[in-house]
Amino acid sequence: MSKAHFGLIGLGVMGENLVLNAESNGFSSVVYNRTYAKTEEFLSGRGAGKNIQGATDLQDFVSKLERPRRILMMVKAGGPVDAVIQQISPFLEEGDLLIDGGNSEYHDTERRVAELESKSFGFIGMGVSGGAKGALEGPSMMPGGTKASYDAIESLVRKMAAQVEDGPCVTYIGPGGSGHFVKTVHNGIEYGIEQILAEGYDLMKRVGGMNGTQMADVFAHWNSTEELSSYLVEITEVCLRTKDPDDGADLVEKIQDKAGQKGTGLWTVVSALQMGASVPTIYASLNGRVMSSMKEQRIKAEPILKGPAIKSFDMGTPADGMAPLMDAMVLACMASYAQGMELLRIASAEHNYNLNMPSIAQIWKGGCIIRARLLKRIQDAFNADPQLANLLIDPWFAEQVNRRLPGLAKVVAGAAEAGIPVPCLSSTLDYINSYRTARLPQNLVQAMRDCFGSHTYERVDKDGIFHTEWLN
Ligand code: NAP
Repeated sequence: MSKAHFGLIGLGVMGENLVLNAESNGFSSVVYNRTYAKTEEFLSGRGAGKNIQGATDLQDFVSKLERPRRILMMVKAGGPVDAVIQQISPFLEEGDLLIDGGNSEYHDTERRVAELESKSFGFIGMGVSGGAKGALEGPSMMPGGTKASYDAIESLVRKMAAQVEDGPCVTYIGPGGSGHFVKTVHNGIEYGIEQILAEGYDLMKRVGGMNGTQMADVFAHWNSTEELSSYLVEITEVCLRTKDPDDGADLVEKIQDKAGQKGTGLWTVVSALQMGASVPTIYASLNGRVMSSMKEQRIKAEPILKGPAIKSFDMGTPADGMAPLMDAMVLACMASYAQGMELLRIASAEHNYNLNMPSIAQIWKGGCIIRARLLKRIQDAFNADPQLANLLIDPWFAEQVNRRLPGLAKVVAGAAEAGIPVPCLSSTLDYINSYRTARLPQNLVQAMRDCFGSHTYERVDKDGIFHTEWLN
């Protein structure tokens, strides 16, 4: 049998679909999974009749691949990735390439790139987004590592990726762990948008008294607008329209209100705090999940901590597309992207990633979970000014902010008076109000710091570093 073009390790949800994608694009493949029974099951199931062979062990796997070998690992992030690298390394030869397509922490990827490249193997840390369907039909892929290693996989990944009007949703991201860093921030933005849409749903349900079908209609309308048209709004409509087959009630109301997380949202926020990037909307979404998991405590607290009774306020009507609520949704989603892009800009400078911001917006336009029409505007904004400090000051986005800020404020104020938590919406309002304020009250913070700790301060009226004996 002739040697295969492509190797896949890890027949989980993503691996299985990615290898079918590669094969359908003309890359004969060989698969290996730690538990061989899964390989057999795959080869006699979805892999049957395809140009895909199985391998019983890693030596067998490597021997079935043409050189230089291109091997995609889709295993659990962390220890399993190191374990697979260690097990396969003795069988690899100079120039062979390992691609880690899982959600690895980017510092781990920095280390692995350095270790493997020093042994003359290529190593690519590649974020993959799109879930099972995207993996099969065309995901968005964010590969980082040396340019030479990327060049060796380019023909493969460009064919496998989602295709949009200006090309495939994959590009060389940059050196080291940059690919996994960009994927991490992608997921942080995703956390933000999911929470924002959930807050819109909560307000429509609890203040507006709307049912699943009525809310789905609003999301369907929002999905037809340039500002909100996106995969996440589209699936929100589907989720809200779906009925429980047992009794025909809205299925979403039967789902436990505890949201899980696997790490990328946390890593986004930790990186932002470490690098001095302001990401309050994304942080609020992470905290929303943490709070949601405190179910037992919330049940106990509800009768003890009395809030205001729920009262209605002007969120708009279905006929006007819930105009103020839409303003709030639009600005919070824009803030999520703006904060993520700003974190990328800061990280790029700190790690010398030399990230190409318009290209990142371009590869997020298709295949991935945060794909949205808005990404075309984001791409245009960074094309017009590659050094743009914050997306929200681009002229098109600034006009949106100026027009929609009253709506966002009205919704946040109404939610506060009704006692309904809207952490992402209120964080966004504070974010925008802070960012557009030339003089913030941190002069008083500086005074306090100098008063108790002699931390010194700068003045607005003369140069130099000053200290005052405040307590004399
Ligand atoms: P997964 O459940 O995260 O991983 C399953 C695969 O990992 C199985 O093939 C399993 O082999 C293998 N594995 C686990 N520990 C191993 C070890 N110590 N040595 C060798 N193999 C080991 O499956 P997944 O959802 O497809 O995710 C794969 C990666 O992609 C993860 O990093 C995930 O975060 C990332 N990702 C997932 C999605 C998604 O939508 N699911 C989207 C983007 C990225 P066995 O069968 O032997 O247990």
